Amino acid sequence: MVFSLFSRFVSLLQAIYWPYQKFLSKRIWLLLPAIAGAIVLWSALAIPAHAYDVQVSPASPTQGDTLSVVVQGTENGEAPTVTVGDTTYTAFLLSGTRYRAFVPTSPNTSPGRMTLKISGPEGKNNIAVNISDRRFNTQYITLSSSRAGLEGTDEEFDRLDALRALRTPERYWRGPMSKPSNGYVSSIYGNQRYYNGVFAEGYYHRGVDYAAGNGSPIYAPAAGRIALVGRESEGFVLNGNTIGIDHGQGVTSVMIHLSGFAVNEGDFVQQGQLIGYMGATGFATGPNLHWGLFVNGVSVDPVPWRYDGVE
Ligand SMILES: [Zn+2]
Repeated sequence: MVFSLFSRFVSLLQAIYWPYQKFLSKRIWLLLPAIAGAIVLWSALAIPAHAYDVQVSPASPTQGDTLSVVVQGTENGEAPTVTVGDTTYTAFLLSGTRYRAFVPTSPNTSPGRMTLKISGPEGKNNIAVNISDRRFNTQYITLSSSRAGLEGTDEEFDRLDALRALRTPERYWRGPMSKPSNGYVSSIYGNQRYYNGVFAEGYYHRGVDYAAGNGSPIYAPAAGRIALVGRESEGFVLNGNTIGIDHGQGVTSVMIHLSGFAVNEGDFVQQGQLIGYMGATGFATGPNLHWGLFVNGVSVDPVPWRYDGVE
């Protein structure tokens, strides 16, 4: 109907203006390569519009913060990846078509501009974030020669490395994490040290220490699977009795210097559940719990996880 009306209209035009119409059609043929070129150029320019929609939090990160990189994907799409320098972080499904990758930072992260490269089937984006410089406390430790010579074993390092390498797709934690001990905080995250007057390059306190009585309860700061129970008698010489919890999506907890255990490897624990007892096993000067929170293998500041919480 529309077409027949149109052809009638064209016939009418042809009848009245046929010499002009002939001239116009020739010009249109000449214009076609230009139109095709414009379409190709438009497609090329339009590609960035198909790149990912990305949100990074916190808005003003500092050393020790965990960057949460939320990427809006598509239905049945593949998970994108986030690369910083040589390290690629896997994004896990958060909800619907939202994926999230954690980028850990620490006192060893250079302050200043950090470029996050987001890549996947939907395209590529580069996002720049600024990591602000943070002052960490400095401690001066004097060690006796026997203490200074205390070294860990392959057994404990290998098993702790395996724990921190876990990238379980499920997310077990919900809401802010809770304190693992009712003791007082005796040492915060990130402290840097001089041992016998020599600056310990690359060292920083990879956790938070709580001090209370020997045998006082230790609770799971968040839900997860007990992925490691390491005993001093089985080679955990430096860390002492150790519990490792897999909270999922690359987030793990390490609790060391325990006097005893209330869980077994493979158990699933809820937030606040009793998991063990404070002690002074391994390299400890007195009863304390050292809790290290690791994100994609890097010890991060647990404070934002404890107070603000991370989705
Ligand atoms: Zn500690």
